[in-house]
Amino acid sequence: MHAIQIAESGGPEVLRYTEVPAPLPTEEEVLVDVTVAGVNYIDTYYREGIYSAEKPFIPGFEGTGRVVYDPQGQIAEGTLVAWHHAFGSYAEQVCVSRNGLVAVPDDFPTEIAASMLLQGMTAHFLSHGVYELGEGDTCLITAGAGGVGQLLTQMASSLGATVYTIVSSDEKEKISYACGAEHVFRYREGWGEQVRRLTGGRGIDVVYDGVGQSTFFESLEAVRARGTVALFGAASGPVEPIDPQLLNKHGSIFLTRPSLGAWTAQEGEFQMRAQAVVQAIMDGDLKLNVSASYPLEEAAQAHRDLQSRSTTGSIVLRVTPD
Ligand code: NDP
Repeated sequence: MHAIQIAESGGPEVLRYTEVPAPLPTEEEVLVDVTVAGVNYIDTYYREGIYSAEKPFIPGFEGTGRVVYDPQGQIAEGTLVAWHHAFGSYAEQVCVSRNGLVAVPDDFPTEIAASMLLQGMTAHFLSHGVYELGEGDTCLITAGAGGVGQLLTQMASSLGATVYTIVSSDEKEKISYACGAEHVFRYREGWGEQVRRLTGGRGIDVVYDGVGQSTFFESLEAVRARGTVALFGAASGPVEPIDPQLLNKHGSIFLTRPSLGAWTAQEGEFQMRAQAVVQAIMDGDLKLNVSASYPLEEAAQAHRDLQSRSTTGSIVLRVTPD
């Protein structure tokens, strides 16, 4: 089968389009023909070696496609499914854990099915788990026009929270307002203090920071005393170790570094979050914006665009025609 393979860590150029043997599912997996694969920031961490995997490996975690073979004979061949945690999804076939699948209606838009779970379920656990947002709460979201950012903004505002976001351009500002943000800022020095002033000096209840290194200390300035900072990503690089005393200095704040893995680990939690995302999309309550799609062989360009901050919303790789 055709796939993108990584033989050494590095820039986008290490994403090589090649031919490899098709994978074989274990009893706990099903083999799927991938139609479209989702592209996520985590894929760049694996490519760069920030997260390690045995080389050579096929990157990618997310996608949609049709079941080819279920060793247990429970899922019919041809069933349309989506997943967010099958390592090796930048390929024509991938093995997906049977517990990590959701069925997708046949008329569901393919590119949305491919990119809704990882970012959508992340937005869900941040707004319904890490900090349960409700009427009257305030939250701040970095990269408000990004994949997670757009979905989290919509979920937070539909829960009744006032949403503040940070973005880097006029175009992204418009997108963020359209998703439901009430105040959109730029990454100018001192934005944390600026946000705090806008809340009458109180600060924000919860800051969701997926940018990391370049925003983290401003996030601490923006959060209220005894508020929460959820550092959920590192798009600008990982945050250096800090002295816990810093959390005291900012008013006994809570700092968490959450992951989707931990927030879907409890019995039934994966299906609960996945179904919530799928249903919200089907009901029209959650709009997922796929801003770019690339053929599989152009995965390197997709990574370049994602890391140059030129994308908004989600981006995907077209693998095989449905
Ligand atoms: P995005 O679409 O949000 O892309 C990243 C965005 O980060 C850019 O568009 C850009 O927006 C912003 N950014 C700020 N500084 C930089 C920089 N120096 N280099 C690149 N981008 C920068 O990506 P995703 O939605 O896929 O992911 C968002 C974050 O969420 C990532 O950090 C990712 O790792 C994390 N994540 C975490 C999960 C978890 O389980 N903890 C699960 C899923 C995602 P702008 O130009 O507006 O600044």
